[in-house]
Amino acid sequence: MSVAALPLPESRPVLRERGQREVFCGLTGIVWLHRKIQDAFFLVVGSRTCAHLLQSAAGVMVFAEPRFATAIIEERDLAGLADANEELDKVVNRLLLRRPEIRQLFLVGSCPSEVIKIDLKRAAERMNAIHAPRVRVLNYSGSGIETTFTQGEDACLAALVPEMPADDAEQLLIVGALPDVVEDQFLRLFAELGIANVKVLPARRSTHLPGVGKGTRFLLAQPFLGDTGQALEGRGARHLPALFPFGAEGTTAWLEAAATAFGVDPMHFRSVVAPGRERAKRAIARQAEVLRGKSIFFMPDSQLEVPLARFLHDELGMELVEVGTPYLHKSHLAAELKALPADVQLSEGQDVDLQLDRVRAARPDLTVCGLGLANPLEQEGLATKWAIELVFTPVHGFDQAGDLAELFARPLVRRDRLVL
Ligand code: SF4
Repeated sequence: MSVAALPLPESRPVLRERGQREVFCGLTGIVWLHRKIQDAFFLVVGSRTCAHLLQSAAGVMVFAEPRFATAIIEERDLAGLADANEELDKVVNRLLLRRPEIRQLFLVGSCPSEVIKIDLKRAAERMNAIHAPRVRVLNYSGSGIETTFTQGEDACLAALVPEMPADDAEQLLIVGALPDVVEDQFLRLFAELGIANVKVLPARRSTHLPGVGKGTRFLLAQPFLGDTGQALEGRGARHLPALFPFGAEGTTAWLEAAATAFGVDPMHFRSVVAPGRERAKRAIARQAEVLRGKSIFFMPDSQLEVPLARFLHDELGMELVEVGTPYLHKSHLAAELKALPADVQLSEGQDVDLQLDRVRAARPDLTVCGLGLANPLEQEGLATKWAIELVFTPVHGFDQAGDLAELFARPLVRRDRLVL
């Protein structure tokens, strides 16, 4: 059994599990990243399995010229590696010739042993020597050995940080890929607050990559950006600790962290956020009728678990049985952890059988889990919510707070209807 209790700074125990995992790999992030960075292309250097994962996760792309692909590397010995590099160069040359609109190319590593042997960093340098400055070539890993699900975005953004031009001007940087509509809402709010120089990472176009330096203060929009945060701090930027912008309270606290840092008058802050905050509260109240008093169990999946648990407990009155997360970033989650009730079981990592045993023993009203676990649990009479929906649906900010709550209410409403 691979379980050990770790103390958090405030001596909250964490169950640490290092067993079998049931989580998507970091390649999944390409599904939302390719939509966000509109002139980027993601070339997965991988196997047929990687190609199948992307095809099924991102099947919607049949309607558009795709901006991702898989260069399939067949098994080969070390002597065949020179050929593999040559083939990769040829694939990239053909791609860039055929698609002149591509400005940013990510070579994305995966886990098959024949791929691990290829040095993608050197491959990116080799290609940059040919294609820069028209195209910037970078590499990161989406391998299932190194990354879970949302960590692919962290790896991608961390790879962008060294490319950001040095700039010590005062600015607020929002970090994390948000749907454009949500990003625009936040940009409008910051403008109304009077914070003038606001940039986002990743930018919608790679030619708009923001600068970074001593005057940069950054707000994380996602809780899974540990490496990116560290890389930004390495460039002189300062993190603004805050709750994450989920629900009325989380969004208010997140905006307030920036407002305080940039000297916004508190009265002005309250008047700017009041309408959105009230809208969010009204929308949440409708879902609270379904969710109040219901118990919820989070299997580790997206790293969104801790902030979502705080939102569901504080604003919807749900009871938290266990909050599992693949990785617990204690400093980025410090405010969130303080806001959780003292008796909730936290777990980091996964040992899927042990965790399923705990789900079955607790029989929560709702279990948040990966696709592969949902069907068996439903068959056992347990209501589930697919964690992946929480990543693919706009859920941040005041105007999405009601939709976020509804994502959790819907399976319970459906179950009640089926039982009636
Ligand atoms: S990167 Fe690894 S885990 Fe992900 S699809 Fe490819 S082979 Fe599977």
